Amino acid sequence: EAAARAVDVWKSYGTGEAAVTALGGVSVELDRGRFTAIMGPSGSGKSTLMHCLAGLDTIDSGDVWIGDTKVNGLRDKGLTELRRDRVGFIFQQFNLLPTLTAEENITLPLAIGGRKVDRAWFDLVVETVGLRDRLSHRPTQLSGGQQQRVACARALVSRPQVVFADEPTGNLDSRSGAEVLGFLRRSSTEFDQTIVMVTHDAVAASYADRVIFLADGRIVRELHHPTADAVL
Ligand code: ADP
Ligand code: ADP
Repeated sequence: EAAARAVDVWKSYGTGEAAVTALGGVSVELDRGRFTAIMGPSGSGKSTLMHCLAGLDTIDSGDVWIGDTKVNGLRDKGLTELRRDRVGFIFQQFNLLPTLTAEENITLPLAIGGRKVDRAWFDLVVETVGLRDRLSHRPTQLSGGQQQRVACARALVSRPQVVFADEPTGNLDSRSGAEVLGFLRRSSTEFDQTIVMVTHDAVAASYADRVIFLADGRIVRELHHPTADAVL
């Protein structure tokens, strides 16, 4: 069974003359434990596809599945639970809470969902992301790369079915970016974590198992085990 699936998804913004088709019949299956990158020019529908898969945005027609849950069949309560408990997010801007320590930021999704921290899993994620000696630091005391690794740990701590990363290296220097990408890759190979990442960067995309290219709201090309040269 796929970790996530889009079936002939259509989505437009606006109405009448002003309507813009952001997704024009996208079908894609994301296998469990795989790391997929979504690339394409600005305005090609990458963010829309990610938001529709994650249940952050509604679709006009088609179906979106996370595991065996049909996302477009959910009502408010189900959508809230899906976003809170079953998917994880990593953003370009880190989006950490400044008054909380790294540890509190990482465990926040569990606290909000009223769930217990699995200490062994927490320790493994923190160790893998290299933050063990930074847990009591607040975001302002951390470098950009460290802040994004906190955000990665936060995304993984609830063992979500899919982690969605939107330009996760967009605000990082290449070395910090490589650390974050290395972590995402390891979380797919070692933890069987399904990852979907939107990126403009061919080097970033080359960390993925698979790259999907969008143009004008459609999938136009796909690469498996890409090299950075092939992505360009
Ligand atoms: P990308 O992430 O590849 O840059 P988007 O998914 O953001 O592309 O956008 C796809 C298309 O949908 C673009 O034409 C964009 O202008 C349009 N679009 C995206 N979000 C909105 C919105 N909230 N309102 C109106 N149009 C939007
Ligand atoms: P193989 O499975 O023999 O390696 P494929 O061409 O089917 O050959 O796939 C090559 C690689 O592309 C896979 O190992 C995986 O990394 C990636 N891939 C294939 N299908 C998917 C999928 N549905 N979701 C995510 N990644 C995929």
